[in-house]
Amino acid sequence: MPERTLLDADPEIAKLIDEENRREHETMRLIASENYASRAVMEATGSVLTNKYSEGYAKKRYYEGQQVIDQVEELAIARLKKLFGATAAAGGEDDLHVNVQPYSGSPANLAVYLAFCSPGDVVMGLGLPAGGHLTHGHTVSITGKYFKSVPYGVRRDDHRIDMDEVRKLAKEHKPKLLWAGTTAYPRILDFAAFRSIADEVGAILAADIAHISGLVAAGVHPSPIGVADVVTSTTHKTFRGPRGGMIFCKKAHAAAIDKAVFPGLQGGPHNHTTAAIAVAAREALEPSFKEYAKSVVANAKVLAGALVEKGFGVTTGGTDNHLMLVDLTSKNIAGKPAAQALDRAGIVANYNAVPFDPRKPFDPSGLRIGTPAVTSRGMGKAEMEKLASWIDRVVAKSTDEAEIAKVAAEVKDLCRGFPAPGIRV
Ligand SMILES: *Cc1c(COP(=O)(O)O)cnc(C)c1O
Repeated sequence: MPERTLLDADPEIAKLIDEENRREHETMRLIASENYASRAVMEATGSVLTNKYSEGYAKKRYYEGQQVIDQVEELAIARLKKLFGATAAAGGEDDLHVNVQPYSGSPANLAVYLAFCSPGDVVMGLGLPAGGHLTHGHTVSITGKYFKSVPYGVRRDDHRIDMDEVRKLAKEHKPKLLWAGTTAYPRILDFAAFRSIADEVGAILAADIAHISGLVAAGVHPSPIGVADVVTSTTHKTFRGPRGGMIFCKKAHAAAIDKAVFPGLQGGPHNHTTAAIAVAAREALEPSFKEYAKSVVANAKVLAGALVEKGFGVTTGGTDNHLMLVDLTSKNIAGKPAAQALDRAGIVANYNAVPFDPRKPFDPSGLRIGTPAVTSRGMGKAEMEKLASWIDRVVAKSTDEAEIAKVAAEVKDLCRGFPAPGIRV
């Protein structure tokens, strides 16, 4: 008897996966943190490597049977060193250590705290309402509960990170750890300026490039490698790998970071994910990935420009990266009902606070829109302009279900012409 397939063993889950496959094929994915992993990445993720325990690091494991796993992890690390070492401001691959074991972006960041801080230490990061991440010291996060968090913000007039405020707060509060990284911020980060502030106050500088690591790898966003002491990232956003995390650091911090990840925070690494990260790194080393990353930014600029033309507020007036923050105040609708109406039209984004948002975090004024996923489908300028028109139509008539159904049909029609990587059509 051959072994049962998923469909035979569990028709309920098989059906739900089919439905998600169809949803991902027929709708526009504009969530800035999402992408489509390739079929090759997903094959590695769904492999026998999920069966193996391998606590420790290559050649220093606590279980036998690592003949294959050690090679997988070393290959992932070597490819990431080649890819990100080439972006380094100093040292290149030579002063670069990589850990590919963090289960995701948040655990990667926790490892940084564990490596460099003690409970009660002062830490600084961009505040969540200004576009920072929970794990950079937000009050509801363990990082805001166990550490003394001093958030910095963006300027009121242009909504850009206020480096003068960062310097002033750093001098006053003397943080042990300074985060440079964002989750809803449309502009280039000045890692060199963060470095000089960290040096002035003796802080560890951690860059969190979860959103932009694909752009950094491709050279379309400046790299913090060789500038920051430690760099963390997810592997599933613009990097287009499996869900996972990775940490880069200078060799001087290698032992502290490795010890923090294992045994400090985690047990066995997810070897199937490590293999898929290796596959994604190989894909990112191909010249076509540079073109992809360039198109992500070009598409974001076209979409932001088209939305501005239609009277939407776009914070900072545009974007330098893969995302934009749309302020819907001028359209007399809040972020949540707009995101829900767009979802019904097959345009999937998330509601988001805008800087100095007068509304509540669970019912804010804006939308966050990103182009990594639609660019992976091969969409370009013409599709971005269509998208802006659809967003405009849905936002203008957010309770008109007939109009929304019309847009949904047009969206589905377009999507069918742009099959996504990894999706079965
Ligand atoms: C997404 C993100 C993370 C967290 O990643 P998870 O994989 O969701 O834990 C951390 N930092 C930043 C800046 C992010 O955008």
